[in-house]
Amino acid sequence: MTKKIIEKELKKKIKTKLDYYGLCPVCKESWDGGDIPKDIRKHYNKPYKWSKLAGIETREKYDFVSQWQCPFCKTKWDRWTEEIVESKEAKKQNVR
Ligand SMILES: [Zn+2]
Repeated sequence: MTKKIIEKELKKKIKTKLDYYGLCPVCKESWDGGDIPKDIRKHYNKPYKWSKLAGIETREKYDFVSQWQCPFCKTKWDRWTEEIVESKEAKKQNVR
């Protein structure tokens, strides 16, 4: 298989709907950052939880979050397509 095909297959395998409060599909660490305190919940959406996923702004392109990054394995996802845009960890797992 060529490198391109491998990467495509890998993306397909890993692409799932991201659960911002669930487990990282790459490194399986939990992104659950705990419950948002009741008194400030009105500013947030359900399920009122903090997520450990980090929002990344690409300022040259947009002035808002366009990617999510796992704080544990540093994998990055596109905010809209939820496809992996960069992952050393996913590539490593593919080698095994
Ligand atoms: Zn991860």
